[in-house]
Amino acid sequence: MTDMTAELRKAIQAYDLPGVLLKTEPYGDGHINDTFCLTCRREDGQLLHFMLQRLSRRAFPHPEEVMENFVRITGFLQKKILEAGGDPARETLTLIRTRDGQAFYTDPRQNVWRMTAFVEGTFSLSDPTPGLMEAAGHAFGRFGRQLRDFPAETLHETIPSFHHTELHLQKLKKILREDPLGRAALARTEADFILAREADCRIITQARRDGLLPLRVTHNDTRLSNVLFDVQSRQGICIVDLDTTMPGLVIFDFGDAIRSAAILQQGKKKDPEAVHLDPDLYEGFTRGFLAQTADFLTKDEVDLLPWGARIITLELAIRYLSDYLEGDHYFRSVLPQQNLLRCRRQLSLLKDMEAQFAAMQAIVQKYAAPSGA
Ligand code: ATP
Ligand code: MG
Repeated sequence: MTDMTAELRKAIQAYDLPGVLLKTEPYGDGHINDTFCLTCRREDGQLLHFMLQRLSRRAFPHPEEVMENFVRITGFLQKKILEAGGDPARETLTLIRTRDGQAFYTDPRQNVWRMTAFVEGTFSLSDPTPGLMEAAGHAFGRFGRQLRDFPAETLHETIPSFHHTELHLQKLKKILREDPLGRAALARTEADFILAREADCRIITQARRDGLLPLRVTHNDTRLSNVLFDVQSRQGICIVDLDTTMPGLVIFDFGDAIRSAAILQQGKKKDPEAVHLDPDLYEGFTRGFLAQTADFLTKDEVDLLPWGARIITLELAIRYLSDYLEGDHYFRSVLPQQNLLRCRRQLSLLKDMEAQFAAMQAIVQKYAAPSGA
């Protein structure tokens, strides 16, 4: 990269890299942090890669808390992986400390940078098959399993009230009343659809209040792109993007993976907004996830997994709609009405999940039973 910014250069200088730095390139299509891949050549000729990331201050106003969680979680996982005879260098992220031994570097503009060793021989993807969905289910399930005896409440909540669906709904109702940009009339159908599901917004928060759902260490961004698959075995070996790993509900980790990956998008011409749940991708993920978790999740957690998919889809629709009505401040929007369209797509998916709900529940029960695992 020729036009390397001064900040990036300074960040690199904060680290004692091996050998000669050959290349620094922007990496991946992550839309939260800025990610760069560094290539170094050691004296013996071997090439080594590192990931350098600048944390988004907009998404994470307390990056030092994000990093404290990161150090504790990866340290815990390393021990678990070693105990199980695994390879911590491939099965979790390895933090590279700065020259002065810090977990991160803060640049003069107060941006926080962190470096991890690149996990070699892996790929990530966004276009799944049932087999890869099963592998991703295994990987996220194993992540929860390895962390099940970590004291979740001692982690920082890096995004407070992240999945408090009722709060998101209350906020939407307020915005609809105030209608600051006069856009509410354009979104009446979507708003009515959401408001008719007010009771659904309470299902999980109420179960939590009733003490039915334990607080666990949850990843909170269980998209497929956050799983590294081994190029040889095609198994999901490492979970990345731990910035939102914090105390939460396992139901939402399951649900967000389904919402974001177990989907079929209709042909563009026919109906650009139609999104369907793909039953085979859903079954693949469920099978892998429950193979790792069925023996330690409570019955209430298992029974509510399909609700997690529905409610997280509804919640995201609510957040897109709120942002549209408020003027697109949170979700970057480059096309007219983009956040309204995003809301519509989530509602289209939700409608399909509602239609397929009995089958979604049956699949969960099939793999939750001891013989199905
Ligand atoms: P997003 O907005 O998509 O969640 P992000 O900005 O939070 O992305 P990451 O998910 O941490 O960034 O990283 C972006 C991508 O880089 C990942 O999807 C993964 O493919 C890859 N990646 C991250 N860390 C590593 C690593 N240590 N080794 C190999 N690949 C990695
Ligand atoms: Mg990511």
